[in-house]
Amino acid sequence: MEKLDSFNPRTGGLVGSVVVTEPDEIPMVVDKSRAAFYEWSALSHAERRKYLKAFKRTLLGNMDRVATLLHEEAGKDLADAFLGDVCPAIGVVDYYARRAERLLRPRRASTWPMSFLIRGWTEYHPRGVVAVIPAYNFPMILTMVSIVPALAAGCSVVFKPSELTPLTGQLIGDLVQEAGLPAGLVQVIHGAAATGAALVGSDVDLVVFTGSPRTGRKVAAEAAEKLTPTILELGGKDAMIVLDDADIVQAARGAVWAGTLNAGQVCISVERVYVSEAIYEEFLDEMERAWGEITAGSGDSRDVGAIIDPKQIEIVDGHVADALARGATLRRGGHQVTSTSGSFYEPTLLTDVDHSMKVMSAETFGPVVAVMQVPDEESAIRLANDSPYGLHGSVWSKDKRRAATVASRLHTGTVAINDHMINLYVPDLPFGGVKDSGYGMELGPEGIRSFCYAQSFTSPRWASTSRILLGGRWNPRRFGPRYWRNFARLLYRW
Ligand code: NAD
Repeated sequence: MEKLDSFNPRTGGLVGSVVVTEPDEIPMVVDKSRAAFYEWSALSHAERRKYLKAFKRTLLGNMDRVATLLHEEAGKDLADAFLGDVCPAIGVVDYYARRAERLLRPRRASTWPMSFLIRGWTEYHPRGVVAVIPAYNFPMILTMVSIVPALAAGCSVVFKPSELTPLTGQLIGDLVQEAGLPAGLVQVIHGAAATGAALVGSDVDLVVFTGSPRTGRKVAAEAAEKLTPTILELGGKDAMIVLDDADIVQAARGAVWAGTLNAGQVCISVERVYVSEAIYEEFLDEMERAWGEITAGSGDSRDVGAIIDPKQIEIVDGHVADALARGATLRRGGHQVTSTSGSFYEPTLLTDVDHSMKVMSAETFGPVVAVMQVPDEESAIRLANDSPYGLHGSVWSKDKRRAATVASRLHTGTVAINDHMINLYVPDLPFGGVKDSGYGMELGPEGIRSFCYAQSFTSPRWASTSRILLGGRWNPRRFGPRYWRNFARLLYRW
């Protein structure tokens, strides 16, 4: 039996191990999941709600256990573990336990202009067995935004946590069991790319993948072989736009927080800041002041957390070096922290940047924020949209209507006004990206419907509608063009 070890990125020490699931075991796991699906999908919403509420209570009773493991396995500061993973995860369970039935209620269709002849409606049925493959950076919430709506919709789940955070994945599976959910409904398998690929290629009915665009493309191609639908939640390169009338202190502190939370390993962290030149100097002064309050590897309340994947340090360093070689100014940080045995990168602030630099075009996924001054609003919008990614962004202005107008011109799945990434705390808002950030939606009404197929129905009000249109012999060719022209005018001239 092959083992997968999980290491603490803060210390390099071993946290624990799991057994790798061999690719040839996966068909059995999927069969078991399908059996669980048949029983689970036969339950009413009210019955499933009881289980989800039990799961919520279990999570509330085990918050510290989860946060401590996230601290150890993902190197997060404890506060960040609660803020970014534990609390919103419970919020997702709460939301779908309350709302699933209403969100999946059959929808009556408008049958105008044939309403006097026919009724129509759509029902939402669970797709079946869902494969969930999350990334490593938020091992709890990334898993929960998929498995909770899947369960609420009536699906069963097989999920493979990242090979960098298998213990958190295992703990989620254990908590599902402790909450008393049926055996086999949520199964955890372990391994890296080979296990993930085998799961995608298995007999599942939907794949929800969260990770890099590079792997996302492979997953989409593999799933396409079986025409298995996919939801792809991929990378981001969030822009923050600070307009000339922004609250400078709030915006600057917001940028520092949202750029360095979880050491910048957030798909929706601030990586690029476009600041109106009218307030640029003042904004930068405030940012530098706030920068003094954060550090990496200190283990105290200033600590932004560890770099979970040690290989990522090379990428982050490469982006900083590339920017400096092309003329950027290093205001803060810029190096790996070498004074500890853990894996840390100094929170790094760059200015004098442009779009020829990787820090402005490729996902850095580290605690690096690049700030660029712009002459006006139009330039800020153009530069923000000049990106292969389109996941999230934010606009800062004291005039919220102005901010909303700018926000709606950003080509991204979500935008925050005078804030960043707070949408995680509003699970009624669908989440998902455009361009290289992927496709498909999680959360909100769209999120739960992603786990369903829509089945649409028609039913005649009197006799069969076609019989009324075509006559008792059901033969459209009995009528010439004049009949059909009049038919179209009758129906559609209004
Ligand atoms: P990754 O693409 O390397 O891996 C993601 C998952 O895919 C892991 O569980 C991995 O084991 C698995 N995997 C690898 N190869 C596979 C294959 N061929 N078939 C199936 N599964 C395979 O991503 P990562 O490095 O873990 O995560 C970082 C990336 O995730 C960043 O780009 C980040 O922006 C993105 N991300 C996106 C979101 C979002 O919601 N859009 C959220 C968090 C992270």
